[in-house]
Amino acid sequence: MMLRMLKQILHTGLATEAYADEEASVGLRGELVIEAQGCDGCGNCALNCPTGALEAKRKRLKWERKKCLFCGLCVTQCQRCLSQTQNVALAELGLRLEGEAGILLRKRISNVLGRSLHVRHLDAGSCNACDFEMSALGSPIYDLQQYGIDFVASPRHADLLMVTGVVTKNLLEAIKMTYEATPEPRLVMAVGACACSGKVFPKGYAVVGALDDVLPVDIYVPGCPPSPSALLQGLFMLLGKF
Ligand code: SF4
Ligand code: SF4
Repeated sequence: MMLRMLKQILHTGLATEAYADEEASVGLRGELVIEAQGCDGCGNCALNCPTGALEAKRKRLKWERKKCLFCGLCVTQCQRCLSQTQNVALAELGLRLEGEAGILLRKRISNVLGRSLHVRHLDAGSCNACDFEMSALGSPIYDLQQYGIDFVASPRHADLLMVTGVVTKNLLEAIKMTYEATPEPRLVMAVGACACSGKVFPKGYAVVGALDDVLPVDIYVPGCPPSPSALLQGLFMLLGKF
């Protein structure tokens, strides 16, 4: 039995992907590139954007990363002004970690945390696709533990909350309680366009909105859902690794 397993392992070889901070696997829909010089102001790209991430005004395009699903619909409408790379670097820092003060704060946080980071996943009302991508981080392909990062079962043991989904009214109290239960310096990551902007689901009887409507967010990783590589890049950006 053992011999068979050993043979199988040798036959499979190394499954873990090396972290690449620029080009990811072929077919991944990444960063949007805007070449506004070619824009004739038709606005088709913005009209077809499901979340209002693109705004076309007087031959100028405005793009909001946090709202973007990276679906590529706008690119199919206009390849003159828009293209999409396979770059997985989609993350954006929150207000308190931006600029000079943010760099100092991140250094202080990284001194407190040392070489490890404990993560608690919190579902605020997701469709679960973001959660599946996040759980793939623990697979041999991404092997999150090799970077000293691991998921924990309780917010009391966590340094970072990774929150998926739009904030729903049913879970609002649980979100606030989980945040309060997490020890300082508690960090918060908004995972996916729902948590980043709340734009996938319009406001309604069950929806509160984006995560930063209720908690301070330190890093946003947009996408619907973001790939495990994009989540890794967000974690490294937060920790100042790589
Ligand atoms: S990729 Fe999709 S969500 Fe993003 S701007 Fe284009 S159409 Fe909108
Ligand atoms: S961002 Fe997309 S994949 Fe993630 S929870 Fe929202 S709808 Fe689902």
